[in-house]
Amino acid sequence: MNLIKYIFTAFFALSSLGNAQLKSPKNVIIMISDGCGYNHIQATDLYQNGEFNSQKYESFPYKYFVSTYPAKADQWDKVYYNAAPYSTLDAWTQFDYVNHNMTCSSAAGTAISTGVKTYNGAVCMDLDRNKLKNLSDLAKEKHKAAGVVTSVEWSHATPACFVAHNESRENYSQIAKEMIFDSKMDVVMGCGHPYYDANGVKKDKPNTFKYVGDSLTWNMLQKGEAKLGDKSVQDIDGDGKPDAWTFIEKKEDFEKLCSGKAPKRVIGTAQVYQTLQQSRGLKSDNYFKGDKIGEEDPKELLASETKTVPELKTMALGALNVLKNNENGFFLMVEGGAIDWAAHSNQTGRMIAEEINFNKTVESVIDWIETNSSWDETLLIVTADHETGYITAPYNGEFGKSWETLPKTPKGQMPNIQWNSLNHTNSLVPLFAKGQGGQYFKIFADETDIKRGRYINNTEIAQLIFLLWE
Ligand SMILES: [Zn+2]
Repeated sequence: MNLIKYIFTAFFALSSLGNAQLKSPKNVIIMISDGCGYNHIQATDLYQNGEFNSQKYESFPYKYFVSTYPAKADQWDKVYYNAAPYSTLDAWTQFDYVNHNMTCSSAAGTAISTGVKTYNGAVCMDLDRNKLKNLSDLAKEKHKAAGVVTSVEWSHATPACFVAHNESRENYSQIAKEMIFDSKMDVVMGCGHPYYDANGVKKDKPNTFKYVGDSLTWNMLQKGEAKLGDKSVQDIDGDGKPDAWTFIEKKEDFEKLCSGKAPKRVIGTAQVYQTLQQSRGLKSDNYFKGDKIGEEDPKELLASETKTVPELKTMALGALNVLKNNENGFFLMVEGGAIDWAAHSNQTGRMIAEEINFNKTVESVIDWIETNSSWDETLLIVTADHETGYITAPYNGEFGKSWETLPKTPKGQMPNIQWNSLNHTNSLVPLFAKGQGGQYFKIFADETDIKRGRYINNTEIAQLIFLLWE
């Protein structure tokens, strides 16, 4: 992380404005499509509309790309090496270049949430294992509300990086407990239910309690209690008393939360195991196995929606209905978490189905802003943490061709794409922003990619929000 550059940029930003005040948003919403690169959006555009650039957010006024490399990438079994900064020349002359220096979701989540690059696996901790201030910490300092919503486990890497601080993303139980007991979050929502399988079917024996802390913590949440032994949840309204979480799990309770009077703070765990829909009907829970089921048309998957699991957009709207009650404003992170999982398995149909649900969620959030707030007081950022699967145009051995635009295919037809990896890549990812504060991204976008144009570093997303709010 280049602190000097940040200080200069911040100084420049302020001095270039002269005496004018930096216009800050009251609310900031970051929506992260995990694993979504440029071609994931293009493929989904083709499938949904038969037209490129057809998502509402693709015509937002502020559009850039983002570099995602971590401070330290891992080679095998957590042997780390220093990751070199992204090189545009290498990326577009060596086909294999982006298969190195890849970030994981937690190093990227930490960068987006704290403005600091770190090692793969870190959750809001720097290279020396010091805790970093994240955007929810910042929101709370400013007496704003804060929430995280995801389509995967709510203690998974991306949401964790907007709340917790841990040396490893794999310490799910510790992360979940920090989120429940030590954070002042107003909303936490996602999956990881101990008693439901991937299809939303109730089980007699629990899967694991690690995603929700442990069995005692789970019982405490279900009873709506504020204390467990000598541990207690936080007082979030400053009246000196701990504020118990309102626990929800049923689809209709998520739906009810979208309007009317909302509880003070909500923890929602949908009645499904690890993710809302991507794992449905798969033989194996291990998405890295490349289970070949899952190549079906997205229509089939979207139509198979269970009656017991809410959509991501319902969770997002429920969260907004809670967060809006804070008169100082709020910070919200919404993650489409399983675009990455489908992409790790090169499941074209499921990747598109996940991205469609993410896009629907973005549209709902846009509508919410236009109805309940305004672009004058809210900043919406739509981006990704990294690309997964290295999607290109089909190229038949001619590498140059791989970088061409995807061949155009009609609406409703599976697009013609080529997967080139089962892992993350170091490719630039898109960023779209609208609303108050988005105009300042241009100050940070001082690097240029040969193909994609101006780009920022992933740390500069948080750096802008820190600049606006501090
Ligand atoms: Zn991944």
